[in-house]
Amino acid sequence: MKLKNINAEFFIPDNTPLEKALARTTFMGISAHQDDIEFMAYDGILKCFGKSNEWFYAIVVTNGAGSPREGLYADYTDEQMQTIRKSEQKKAAYVGEYGALSLLDYPSSAVKDPNNKDIVEELKTLIATSKPKVIYTHNLADKHDTHIGVVVKVISAIRELPESLQPEKLYGCEVWRNLDWVNDEEKVVFDVSTHPNIAASLNEVFDSQISGGKRYDLAVAGRRLSNATFAASHGVDTATGLLYGMDLTPLIKDVNMDINVYVQGYINRFAADVTTRLKKVL
Ligand SMILES: [Zn+2]
Repeated sequence: MKLKNINAEFFIPDNTPLEKALARTTFMGISAHQDDIEFMAYDGILKCFGKSNEWFYAIVVTNGAGSPREGLYADYTDEQMQTIRKSEQKKAAYVGEYGALSLLDYPSSAVKDPNNKDIVEELKTLIATSKPKVIYTHNLADKHDTHIGVVVKVISAIRELPESLQPEKLYGCEVWRNLDWVNDEEKVVFDVSTHPNIAASLNEVFDSQISGGKRYDLAVAGRRLSNATFAASHGVDTATGLLYGMDLTPLIKDVNMDINVYVQGYINRFAADVTTRLKKVL
C-alpha cells in the first residue's frame, strides 16, 4: 500500500507490518496538522492506550508548511520545519502507543480547495482499509479554514463508502474553537480525566510549536479542566478533564443532509437557549 504524495509516509511505532497494523484499527483521528490529533482526539488515544485489542490510527493531512519559526528553530528553512513537525508527530505516536500514523503531506491549499478530489480518494482508501468504528476529526464551527477543509473532506470520503465500511460514529472535536457553547443535551462529552501524564507528554512533545511562542500544551490542559469545572453549576466535579465533540454521524448516514444547515441548527438552538433563559428574568 502506497500513499499518493512523494514525501508522505506511514509510521508504525511497534513495527508491526503495515497491512496488519492498519487492520487492527478501532479508533481513528483525522486532523489538518501535526498536534491537532493529540489536542482534539485524546479520547480515542486514551481508549486504546495500553490495550491489545483497541488501536488508534492517526492521519495528518497537511505537510506543516508555513509554521512559525522562533528561538531554536529561527534559522530553519520551511522544509526543515516540515521535517521537524513530522518527527514530533512520530514521537507522539510512539508515546501514545498508536497502532499507526499516516502523514499525507498535502499543502493547505489542497485541503481548502473544494475541487480537490485526491484527499477524498486517499481518505476513502485509508478508512476502507482500516475500518475504524469511531473517527474523530475537526468540528464544523472551527475557525481555521484548513480544519474546516479537512472535516468536509472526511465527510465526503465516508459518504462515498458503502455502509459496511463506514464508521459507526463520526465526531467533530475542539481545536480552534471550544464547543462549550453547544447546548448541554447535544454535547458529546468525552471524559479524559485518566492518564494526565500521558496527555501532558503528548501535548508537550510538539516543541517547535510551543517554542514558536504558543503554549498550546497549557491551553489544551486548561480547556479540559475548564470544561470539567464549568460542565455543571451544581454538585462537585467528578471529572478533571472533559473534551467536547459535535456528533457528525447524521451527516454520514444521510448523504443528502446539507452540511451548513446541520451546523447552523446547533447555532440556532444555542441562540434559542439564550433567549429562553433571558425571557425568564426579563
Ligand atoms: Zn491545526
